Amino acid sequence: MRWEKITITLSLLVFFSFTIAQQKETSPREKIAELEKKVMTLEKQVGLLEKRIIELERKLSELEKRLPPATTVKPTPAPKVTPTEKPSFYIGNARTKKFHRPECEWAQKIAPYNRVTIKSREEAIKQGYEPCKVCRP
Ligand SMILES: [Zn+2]
Repeated sequence: MRWEKITITLSLLVFFSFTIAQQKETSPREKIAELEKKVMTLEKQVGLLEKRIIELERKLSELEKRLPPATTVKPTPAPKVTPTEKPSFYIGNARTKKFHRPECEWAQKIAPYNRVTIKSREEAIKQGYEPCKVCRP
């Protein structure tokens, strides 16, 4: 009986010391070291991404330099018409649903993908467009 108790206590001791040792293996220090490793790899990745972003920005600015001639391919058809004259067409903004005289500064500012050419004032109103308050088409 006595030996049994001793062996049980011994095995318990071994068990506890083992668990303590295991706990020590994943000590906060090691956890921190592990996290630091992760942070370092993440920092490396961020650095690489930053480089990539800089690269892409450079490419973008290069492309933008090439853009102006491309945009001049789509000139705003703006024959000189005096405001009192009835223009031969109007320019509508598909997004804001406003329409302008072709020479209106606001018509020039419409993004090409929103710009719509409308044959007449009646047609514009029929399509749900509102006249611009600046050029009063
Ligand atoms: Zn206008």
